[in-house]
Amino acid sequence: MEIRAPRGMPDILPAETPRWQTVEATLREVARRHGYGEIRTPVAEHTEVFQRGVGAATDIVEKEMYTFTDRGGRSLTLRAEGTAPVMRAFLEHNLGAQGLPARVYYVCPIFRYDRPQAGRYRQHTQFGAEVIGSPDPAADAEVLGLAVRAVEALGLAHPDVHLSSVGDATCRPRYLEALRAYYRPRLGDVCDDCRRRFETAPLRLLDCKRAPDREIARGAPRILDYLCGACGAHLAGVRAHLDAMGIRYTIDPMIVRGLDYYTRTAWEALSGRLGAQNAVFGGGRYDRLAEQLGGPPTPGVGFGMGLERLLLVLQQEGVAGAGASSPELFIATAGTEPSRALALADRLRRDGLSVTVDVMARGLRAQMKQADRLGAAFVLLLGEDELRRGVAVLREMATGQQEDVALARLGEAVASRVRAR
Ligand SMILES: [Zn+2]
Ligand SMILES: [Zn+2]
Repeated sequence: MEIRAPRGMPDILPAETPRWQTVEATLREVARRHGYGEIRTPVAEHTEVFQRGVGAATDIVEKEMYTFTDRGGRSLTLRAEGTAPVMRAFLEHNLGAQGLPARVYYVCPIFRYDRPQAGRYRQHTQFGAEVIGSPDPAADAEVLGLAVRAVEALGLAHPDVHLSSVGDATCRPRYLEALRAYYRPRLGDVCDDCRRRFETAPLRLLDCKRAPDREIARGAPRILDYLCGACGAHLAGVRAHLDAMGIRYTIDPMIVRGLDYYTRTAWEALSGRLGAQNAVFGGGRYDRLAEQLGGPPTPGVGFGMGLERLLLVLQQEGVAGAGASSPELFIATAGTEPSRALALADRLRRDGLSVTVDVMARGLRAQMKQADRLGAAFVLLLGEDELRRGVAVLREMATGQQEDVALARLGEAVASRVRAR
């Protein structure tokens, strides 16, 4: 029997985790500087959170959720999207009580039963941030600015931000009517998915990936021509704030977010060289989400950023990440009691050094080979003769230089040499 990880759910191995840790630490630091606190919601929610929050007629809810019945007969779903659980938690814990808005961020796995492809997985990791409780364009500009500065902080260029508005309950119905009028005579030419979207989620007709459908979408009426006064003024406000902050964007009316709850501002950002560009984050305003979840009207705006995709772009762009973690010191024993090495390692670790000892009862030559394989910076040789003299031999692996160091002040001696490298 061959046991493997589920398809599309990759292991992230110790050789790769340093890059992840660097990226996550940078994102957390950027969020901290913006005054956002971390929120951790459970990995599963009651299925209604996504059905009501994301919309029953969406691809996510129709085809991509990991839904199961627990032993109590309740329907639970693995986190299929980042925002609905955050809003559920905001409502459940009354996070607005300390004064609005609530500013939160998360780094967590998202589960979608999607066809796995490069940079897309059935379990992927998302960084996202939300501002809940403000209808003001300043909130949109702040959180979009956070996403842009986060990408820059990782060492990438200012991403290519595409910005639009999807209107609100006042103006969108009129636009959808115009959109349906345009598509009605063309329904014979579009794919089955588009025919279904025509009935259930017409905005998403503009989002079809099939080439002939994209051509038809390009000729469709543009929502920006249908915005009501309030939505037009909101978009103008967001643009003015972004201009003031030096955040660059392109107005692109083809940007429609895949989820039902979006209102007004919507954006997508691409990163990487032209021709090899990847979507690195997307987001927008969701003023109706709280009501769809059964809460009071509560405006919100935020984004989600896929970390696998981001790491792919960082690699393509040659942005160096941290290397694998190698021990600073490997303690090798030559005929010495293993407990001497273990006790010494324990002491040095408390001094802050990263120390590895042999736990395979290997001979000295094999231990030296292992130290080399691990990339240890120094090896400390504990030999019986040296121990009797109260010293050990410290060898710098890169240069081969060796010297005797007194056991009594070993911590200091090793630490100062590790720091001097
Ligand atoms: Zn289509
Ligand atoms: Zn409007």
